Amino acid sequence: MTYPNTQLFINGQWCDAAAGESLAVFNPATGKEIGRVAHARIPDLDRALHAAQKGFETWRGMLPIERNKIMRKAAALMRERAGDIAAMMTQEQGKPLAEAKVEAMAAADIIEWFADEGMRVYGRIVPSRFNLSARQMVIKDPVGPVAAFTPWNFPINQVVRKMAAALASGCSMIVKAPEETPAAPAALIRAFVDAGIPEGVLGLVYGTPAEISNYLIPHPIIRKITFTGSTPVGKQLAALAGQHMKRVTMELGGHAPVIVAEDADISLAVKSAGAAKFRNAGQVCIAPTRFLVHESIKKEFAAEMVKYTQGLKVGNGAAEGTTMGPLANPRRVTAMADFTADAIQQGATLALGGERIGSEGNFWQPTILTDVPLQAKVFNDEPFGPMAAIRSFNTLDEAITEANRLAFGLAGYAFTRSLKNADILARRVEVGMLWMNMPALPSAEMPFGGIKDSGYGSEGGPEAMDAYLNARAVTIMNV
Ligand code: NAD
Repeated sequence: MTYPNTQLFINGQWCDAAAGESLAVFNPATGKEIGRVAHARIPDLDRALHAAQKGFETWRGMLPIERNKIMRKAAALMRERAGDIAAMMTQEQGKPLAEAKVEAMAAADIIEWFADEGMRVYGRIVPSRFNLSARQMVIKDPVGPVAAFTPWNFPINQVVRKMAAALASGCSMIVKAPEETPAAPAALIRAFVDAGIPEGVLGLVYGTPAEISNYLIPHPIIRKITFTGSTPVGKQLAALAGQHMKRVTMELGGHAPVIVAEDADISLAVKSAGAAKFRNAGQVCIAPTRFLVHESIKKEFAAEMVKYTQGLKVGNGAAEGTTMGPLANPRRVTAMADFTADAIQQGATLALGGERIGSEGNFWQPTILTDVPLQAKVFNDEPFGPMAAIRSFNTLDEAITEANRLAFGLAGYAFTRSLKNADILARRVEVGMLWMNMPALPSAEMPFGGIKDSGYGSEGGPEAMDAYLNARAVTIMNV
């Protein structure tokens, strides 16, 4: 399918930027320019802000069931269009077609779950401790227009998690979607437009990320900020939001430990963690990254992991049979080369991969490093690429201490057949999401988010709705 140019979406209209500026979009498998995306400046943002204010008044004034119907229709359109959307996403982001399709289909599930949750924004009646005639009510109201900033690794999923919860709560939203992968998020917005979302409820802009966030976050129309991306940028944006007393949800970087205990099912661990590791070429905030394997099984685990990884088929995501595509941008190739060189220099063993593939596009060999020293960069900074770093441990305590050593606390994985180990791990591993004896399987109805430097707030479950609601206390005296 032909890759489209992407426009801004402001006040119910698709439009070019007022100043006519645009940016190039590249296919990471070929390195070639495939299209352009409109580049918004302040006058465009001003229009988007005023539309979002107006859209908020309209949307909050509608019955939850009316909002539910529009959202459910958008979900149905996403399912219908998933094949075409996936083809666009693969061209701009690189992931295999099958993964892109799963992402588009999952968006529909997320929209539907939140659409229904929007019907259950209940307040409370609380008995008064002072007077029987006092009616104490807790009322939940939408917080207001939201500014959302989303990254390029899951061009649709990162937007829809925010958008579905905000819309279900009655908020309007301006999305600053990723300039490198603009067409897929635009297709998501289009599904809502075609489903009949009123003017101004959704806005879509692209441009210079810092220029847009510096303008939208302090702006009085915006009442809530939500960001997914790296921890350093998240800290900057949270600080700016703090200065302006704006509510914030931050879904930031991770460095997921995978604890493989002495009694683990090794094949299950390799299959589950291997699949999670190389999905989207490892450019996943919840990807397993620090493999901590019991000393007694480390050789067997590493050998099986190498065998599993050799079975991956790296290539253009659009080609039949590809299981791992290119990295999404040239920055990740440079990062992989740095991580590999540093780990080897610090004494790690390169068990597989470690090289760029060819000179066209951003292909990197799936890489496995063993006996990685703690001080190696890959064991401290988020690799965000197809790289598994393995080291061993002797006691579960030691593994838990290592898992908790870093400031990150997003996802974690563990493999054990012992109920006792599972219980200890559940209580002591400091992460927002822990999967045991299985790959990551996030869903709309479960909380999604991190603790510590991985951020705060959740993008799943009823908790995700709270982020877009004000709880107000109103008491009426029956006189
Ligand atoms: P980056 O840190 O420059 O950008 C990360 C994201 O933040 C991008 O989407 C970018 O557009 C946005 N961003 C950057 N500065 C911003 C600003 N001032 N205001 C608003 N948005 C801003 O790095 P990058 O090279 O794009 O990505 C690399 C790193 O980002 C990875 O190593 C990973 O740690 C992190 N990342 C995390 C996720 C995630 O799912 N949590 C997704 C993508 C990237």
